Amino acid sequence: MRIGFIGLGNMGLPMASNLVKAGHHLVVFDVVEKLVQALVVQHPSQVIAAPNIKSLAQGGDSNSQTNQSLDVIITMVPEPQHVRSVYLGDSGLLANLTSPCLLIDASTIDPQTAREVAQTAYEKGYSMLDAPVSGGTGGALAGTLTFMVGGDEAAFEQAKPILQAMGKNIVHCGGNGNGQVAKVANNMLLAISMIGTAEAMSLGVSLGMDPKILAGIINTSSGRCWSSDVYNPYPGVIDTAPAARGYKGGFGADLMLKDIGLATAAAKSVKQSVPMGALAQQIYQIFSNQGHGGLDFSAIIQLLSKDK
Ligand code: NAD
Repeated sequence: MRIGFIGLGNMGLPMASNLVKAGHHLVVFDVVEKLVQALVVQHPSQVIAAPNIKSLAQGGDSNSQTNQSLDVIITMVPEPQHVRSVYLGDSGLLANLTSPCLLIDASTIDPQTAREVAQTAYEKGYSMLDAPVSGGTGGALAGTLTFMVGGDEAAFEQAKPILQAMGKNIVHCGGNGNGQVAKVANNMLLAISMIGTAEAMSLGVSLGMDPKILAGIINTSSGRCWSSDVYNPYPGVIDTAPAARGYKGGFGADLMLKDIGLATAAAKSVKQSVPMGALAQQIYQIFSNQGHGGLDFSAIIQLLSKDK
């Protein structure tokens, strides 16, 4: 298939590489030229660079005489405003597409923006899916991401084999925006459970317990959760967790703050109260303001623990 890919950052680059490995031909664009060149140089026979979004929408390189249309376009950009700028406006995808094409936005954004952009796409005759992911950069590299997909059934079935080249679990969550709903609800819970785990571990250690023994008890008792078991924030408990490497890498606290912000804004739009989510947002905001937004989100224990 010929696939357009926009946004070759920490997630997009390994995702696009997995599409190449699966035998697809890619036309790629990122505002950062060196990210585009990195992929083109690695796979010259399968990847071409588009000079801008308009040219990508029209099938490829504006200098080429052999532009062919794209079957699918995947976008992986940071925030809602980037998704709007890529899809909407005179120089965006929807104004410049010239033939049928399935649109898949894998960025994590708010459900309202996902629904608005998809509605605009449908009005212009294009099917669109929101397909945010979980699994982080490790999952993107390994091709084991989970895709939470919102959109109609036919578009989902069309997208599934393409998403399977980048992920292991491809879940249809319902209509447009529901992929984002699943993603923000999950990440809000993750933020809350990480803060809870950090609090419980800090309390236990302050009261004299060995952190490994305490984690072992929690993980075989009713307090167990992913944050305590797989990703425990207390150093020395789990060798593979970011806590074992100074909270470097992993999922940045500022990215978590962004996701909780999406969840609380979405909650406001339907007058749903999320008191724990709002508190988690404030706690991560304090941590970010202290200059720690680049650390893995489990480093939040540093704000709560007396000695971390
Ligand atoms: P990133 O900042 O590393 O990459 C985003 C890329 O998009 C950048 O290369 C940037 O130059 C490009 N970009 C921005 N605006 C553009 C535009 N108008 N046109 C073309 N390119 C543009 O971010 P990331 O870590 O790859 O995350 C991408 C999305 O995936 C975010 O929504 C993020 O929340 C989500 N996500 C990230 C992770 C993670 O662990 N990093 C995990 C799950 C989901």
